[in-house]
Amino acid sequence: MTEAALKNKNDMTNIPFIDLNAQRARIEKEIDKAVLGAVHGGAYIMGPQVKQLEKDLAEFAGAKHCISCSSGTDSLLMFLMSQNLKQNDVVFVPDFTFIATAEVVSMVGAQTFAVDVEKDTFNLDPQELQNAVSSAKEKGLNPVGVIPVDLFGHPADYEAIKKISDEHGLWIMADSAQGFGGSLNGKKVGQWGDITSTSFFPAKPLGCYGDGGALFTDNDELADVLRSLRVHGKGTDKYDNVRVGLNARLDTVQAAILIEKLKIFPDELIARQNVADRYNNALSDDVKTPALAKGATSAWAQYTLILPGNINRADFSAKCKENGVPTAVYYPLPISRQTAYKDVNVLDHGNPVSEFLSKRVISLPMHPYLDNETQDYIIQVVKNALVS
Ligand SMILES: *Cc1c(COP(=O)(O)O)cnc(C)c1O
Repeated sequence: MTEAALKNKNDMTNIPFIDLNAQRARIEKEIDKAVLGAVHGGAYIMGPQVKQLEKDLAEFAGAKHCISCSSGTDSLLMFLMSQNLKQNDVVFVPDFTFIATAEVVSMVGAQTFAVDVEKDTFNLDPQELQNAVSSAKEKGLNPVGVIPVDLFGHPADYEAIKKISDEHGLWIMADSAQGFGGSLNGKKVGQWGDITSTSFFPAKPLGCYGDGGALFTDNDELADVLRSLRVHGKGTDKYDNVRVGLNARLDTVQAAILIEKLKIFPDELIARQNVADRYNNALSDDVKTPALAKGATSAWAQYTLILPGNINRADFSAKCKENGVPTAVYYPLPISRQTAYKDVNVLDHGNPVSEFLSKRVISLPMHPYLDNETQDYIIQVVKNALVS
């Protein structure tokens, strides 16, 4: 296989990191029909497809309410806006995440506390969360909530986080921009927090053809407030404004696309798991491969390795690229190392795991349409780059 894979090298010069075209080819007719249907339908804002999608998504996630919106970032922001936070209020976020998770806390004028993560799952470390809550209280701050992230698709340790949150009266908003479709102990992502946020950015496991996002909750009152915030804080109608809100609606045409993509999503999740299994089987002797925590299933938004100390990441990535294999680094800097977040709250001992991961992680091509031949070629290139 190795020989054969290498012999086919000429066909392997243009391997996509995420292959959205393969997905489109599979459901081309359905997507075209859905898009044209939305265009001909003429209800471009909050058309019937938006309602349909919210119903489908709520059912999939096992949540009472789904509130679709304009992006993953806006979904996080909308919930925070609903909480009327003050300057002294603290929200805990993992230090190793996409910037949006922290950004929204700053946007509503509250304080961010960047908490270290676990090396095995890349997710918020519950023990460190406990320490951070104590530290915030000692500083005279008011802990109000936590935003665990399902990084790379792997659900955060919600059971442990919930214990700490209950003890200190914190709400949990799951940032499941990457984790939608995953589950923990038989419960889907979307059922674990007080509220769950996701993103339909094209490269996420369930993506549309533009920006989009959604919130999931079982809380009727909260759902009403979020629907109001989505349209300028509307009350009984959109010219009756009872709170300060946003224009944060999901476009009808994106909803129409997502309805079709959601139909094949369960099948795609299985395909992603197969791709992850094949990578793990082939590479776990050579490099630290990602493992699932007990009871967890992942949406495999990314397949992320931890390189050994003797391998220079830039060289590794260059060698892969020379052989046509794209790689990506998520994320080269923890939140607390970002210029905009140089004053963020952290524990006195810093966040050593986040620092370590930001220097060592690298992600390989991962999508449901990665065929065995291409994957075997990628594996061989990675193996070669690890020894030389
Ligand atoms: C992508 C992402 C977001 C933001 O989603 P957008 O739709 O791009 O606004 C938030 N958090 C995490 C962890 C993400 O990966």
